[in-house]
Order: sequence, then C-alpha cells, then structure tokens
Amino acid sequence: MPRSCGSERTNAILRRLLAYARTRLGWEAGLDAVNDARRQPQIPTPVIVRALTVMFLARLGSLNALGQTRPRRFWARWLEAGLPSADTLGRVAGQVEVDGLRRVHQQVYARLKRGKALPPPAHGLIAGVVDGHESHATFRRHCPAGLRRTIHTAAGERTQYYHRHVTFQLVGADWTLVLDAEAQRPGEGEVAAALRLLERALALYPRAFEVVLADGLYADPRVFNYLYPRGKDVLAVLKDNHPALLEDARSLFENTPPVGGRNGTRLCQCWDLVGFTTWPQVQAPIRVVRSLETWTVRRQLDGQVEAQHAEWLWVTTLALARAPTGAVVQLGHARWAIENEGFNELATRWHADHVYRHEPSALLVFTLLAMLCLNVFLAFYRRDLKPAARAAASRLHVARQVAGELYASPSAAAPRAPPGRKRRPLLVPVP
Ligand SMILES: [Zn+2]
Repeated sequence: MPRSCGSERTNAILRRLLAYARTRLGWEAGLDAVNDARRQPQIPTPVIVRALTVMFLARLGSLNALGQTRPRRFWARWLEAGLPSADTLGRVAGQVEVDGLRRVHQQVYARLKRGKALPPPAHGLIAGVVDGHESHATFRRHCPAGLRRTIHTAAGERTQYYHRHVTFQLVGADWTLVLDAEAQRPGEGEVAAALRLLERALALYPRAFEVVLADGLYADPRVFNYLYPRGKDVLAVLKDNHPALLEDARSLFENTPPVGGRNGTRLCQCWDLVGFTTWPQVQAPIRVVRSLETWTVRRQLDGQVEAQHAEWLWVTTLALARAPTGAVVQLGHARWAIENEGFNELATRWHADHVYRHEPSALLVFTLLAMLCLNVFLAFYRRDLKPAARAAASRLHVARQVAGELYASPSAAAPRAPPGRKRRPLLVPVP
C-alpha cells in the first residue's frame, strides 16, 4: 500500500472533520432538517446552512470571503449545488429558524453524551455557565431590536447602539460545549434574558448539568429562586453589590481559621460557611466561600519571579456534602472556561462577532451556527485526532489546514458553451 504523503493527509482534514461530524454526531441529517421561513425557496435551506457551516469551520470571517471560494469544486460535493451568492446567503440566513439550529445543538450534545465523550470533572459536577456577551457596538447602524446607551464623548453626548446576548455553555472534565444563546431585548436587563435562556436549557438539557455558574450580576434572587426549586444549584461571584451579605461573611471569616489547599498551581487559603440569613429575598440555603490565592509568575522583562495574589468570594446554594470547599473553588474558576473557550475563542478566532447581516434574527442565526461549528470542531480535535496529532498541531493550526483545504480544492471546470453557439467574449472591445 503506498504511503500517503504528509500533504495528502493534511489536505483531507476538512473532509475528515465533516466525515466525523456525519458518522459520529449525525450532523448532516441534523443540518438538513433545518427549515427557513421562505414561502417558495429557489435554493433549498440545507444548501444555505451547509455553506455557512463551512464558512465558520474554515474561519473565513465574512460572506464575501466565502463568496470568493465559489469556483472551488469542494462545493459541488458538499452542497450538491453551486455556492449561492454572498447576498443570498445573508438574506436567507435571516430567515433560518433558530429552533431548528437549537435542535442540531441538542442532537450533537446527545450523540457526544451517548458516546461517553462528556465525562464529569473529578468532583462529579458538570456546570452550566451563563454569561452575557456584547457582540458589537456602533454609533451609526441600528435596528429595532438593538439596545442603546448614551456615551459621553469630547463632542458631547452620543447614542450608541449595541447587541448583547446571553450564552449557555456546559463545562465538564476536559471539554466545553456552547449550546444556546438568547438576545437581550430593548428595555430589559441581562438577567431577564438569562432567565428565558435557563428555562430553555432546563427543557432541552434537563439532566446535563448540576449547577449553574455565573458572574456577580447573577447573584440575583430571581436566578437563585428560579433554579433552586427546579433541582439546580447556583454558584455566583459575590461582589460589593450585596454589601450586607459581604459584610456578614467577612466578619464571620475573621473569627474562623482558614483551610489550606491547592487549585492547580495556586496555593489557596479558604473560608467556607453556611447558614447565612442576610439575603432574605432568596428562598434557599446560602453558603459563602472565600479563597485567598497566591501564585508566582516570572516577569518577562527581567526574569524575576513575582508573587501574585487574588481574593475570590462566591455565594452558592451547593450543600457541603455535594461540593466540598475545593470543589466550589474549582467550579468558581471553571467560569473562566466560558471566557477562554467560549466568547474569546468565538470572537477572536471564529469571527463570531462579525456582523454578517444586521438583522436581529440573522445575528442569532450566525451566533448559533458559529457555536455549533466550534463544538463540532472541538469534539473532532479532542476526540477524533490522536494525541500525537494533537501534540503536533494546535487547534489554530488544524483550523488553518481546514481553510487551506477549501482554498486548495481544484477549480470547477468552466461551463462549456452549448455546441453550435459561439462563446460570447467576456470583454466587449470598445470600438
Ligand atoms: Zn442592531
């Protein structure tokens, strides 16, 4: 058997990724079941949805960049049709049903779960992380669903328009999945949008997570009182927006000796107390955990080792028996996963914040598609590539190979003029 050369193998990475998604995640069937709101579509919805997924997998960053790959023969295989124009892709994307995309997310989750690809962390608790994300802000373009705020500039007050959505992400042992998003509507706060998102997360993923993690904004009675009776614990950062609870906790901690521990490379001194009554709006047992952390970094400038310190406080409904102090500290820091493998990766590497089409529905469709492609890509990278291949190629490198394969796909043969007819010259000479 001839040895396949390196370039041959790297050339096949997009095909391999799509084959993994088809056979292991049932992805193609899911994508092809998505509908859109057009009455008499000329181009079938799967063509649009499939084209957009490859735009994200190859991280092309814009519909125009996607449009420029139109001559590639890859499209005939993947779409069984020609690639639609950038304008058509954007227009139809705005009509794609978001619940259809959510069903594909649910299906990818279910297949990974069934395949035992989603193990819990050592402490046994899989977390659902909610967090708000501002996708873009502008002084010029705005739409009815956009949020607005007044910005004080040197030239006076100006109205800025922006969009924010709240995302829901699962965090397990060595994996994360960004599964859903909900847009914040004009006139409402982020927590109101998060409650709609959580209601759907409980319906679509009832047994997928044990505890909801969130930042200080979500240390809100509405969140605690919604989740706790539904069997989900909450863990939120405790900040000075709860002065009474914070003061109560600090004074109690003063008279309690800390417990030493370690979280990764950090040394922790922890305080952990239950039974707080200084937050009467919450109908759940309240526990506060404080972690004073110390670690060292080597300064790049002169190579000196420098000690770093941080203080963290969390408020949670988690019972001690379910989550010992160390587990609470680990969960508290797991929230960073949504920054590092959620928003940051989506925004900086996947161009998820690019405004592909400025319409409320299109913004959500593109966000859900970007999240779906991130999940499929990460599942492929972590569960299908061999450890040696992962060690040799970072995620970014593999992503560049995906784009490279698309660009290197041969150009489809130029259509021939029917026999008996003269081919029209492309440029008409000026007389
Ligand atoms: Zn807008």
